[in-house]
Amino acid sequence: MYPSRFRYEAPHSLDEAIATLRDGGDYAKVLAGGQSLVPLMKLRFASPELVVDINNIPGLSYHRTDPDGTLRVGALCRHADLERSDLLKGTQPTMAAAAPLIADPIVRNRGTLVGSLAHADPQGDWASVVLSLGGSVVAQGPSGRRTIPVADFVRGPFENALAPDEIAIEAVIPPAKGARAGGYLKLERRVGDFATVGVAVALETSGGTVRRAGIALTGVGGSTIAAAAAAGALAGKALTAETIEQAADLAAQAANPRTDHRGSAEYKRHMVRTFVMRLLSRNGDRAERAA
Ligand SMILES: Cc1cc2nc3c(=O)[nH]c(=O)nc-3n(C[C@H](O)[C@H](O)[C@H](O)COP(=O)(O)OP(=O)(O)OC[C@H]3O[C@@H](n4cnc5c(N)ncnc54)[C@H](O)[C@@H]3O)c2cc1C
Repeated sequence: MYPSRFRYEAPHSLDEAIATLRDGGDYAKVLAGGQSLVPLMKLRFASPELVVDINNIPGLSYHRTDPDGTLRVGALCRHADLERSDLLKGTQPTMAAAAPLIADPIVRNRGTLVGSLAHADPQGDWASVVLSLGGSVVAQGPSGRRTIPVADFVRGPFENALAPDEIAIEAVIPPAKGARAGGYLKLERRVGDFATVGVAVALETSGGTVRRAGIALTGVGGSTIAAAAAAGALAGKALTAETIEQAADLAAQAANPRTDHRGSAEYKRHMVRTFVMRLLSRNGDRAERAA
């Protein structure tokens, strides 16, 4: 199918892009990697009157750390950049684990992490990962920049907190309070598929104790789910068989899956518990060795 008729602009600066969005009427869309927007337009689930392509704007393809350890991922940093990143492999285990599990190589070559957050698909992997890490999104609009915690940025299924004339310019991951550990596990029907169940675990540990934990769930509710009680149960404690089991039970309770062609709600909830157990047990062993 072909999309409806639309106006296409490809500005060369952020200011120009924001001004174009502002003048663009009620239904304008930013185009980053196009891996979610273009299929939606072709199916006519989205029919924007104006598409503002940000790919000509220089200086948005980065991912880098500040001296204090804050990680910044620019709006045009592709999934593939993150998959190949030595920086992530060394410092961000949850992100490094998730990057190769996003879609397939073709989608990863064009799609962006920031676009994935903006798209707010309950089955999007990056929203869980960034949520587990306590990350945020920096938005720029006509009156300047603001930082929005990802927990508030993803408002619901396919809904984000951006104003119509704002562009998400980067995702930000705060520095860790201890050694980082964690991972991402995804159950998919075949390689490259969206998650039937995904679990992100992000830990900051010191001396064998969890200083901070984040657990977030993909595909098992109407939106990305922060399993806050499960994460809270780990804070200040060592990863033992007992604390791991308690967190896994609480994460499974936080899931709100539906029975569908991918599996029963009970099965999906069970997989959440299993994935949390696996991720924490794996990292518990490492934390014990490091202590
Ligand atoms: C076959 C296929 C399989 C896929 N599998 C997976 C998967 O397994 N896991 C997964 O997480 N995702 C998957 N995706 C989605 C993919 O990861 C997309 O790349 C991602 O969701 C959106 O990023 P994008 O840069 O392509 O955004 P686009 O498609 O360009 O935009 C998506 C939405 O976000 C908005 N947007 C994008 N960037 C910005 C910005 N900087 N500021 C403001 N608004 C913005 C757009 O206006 C649009 O509404 C799949 C896609 C396809 C086609």
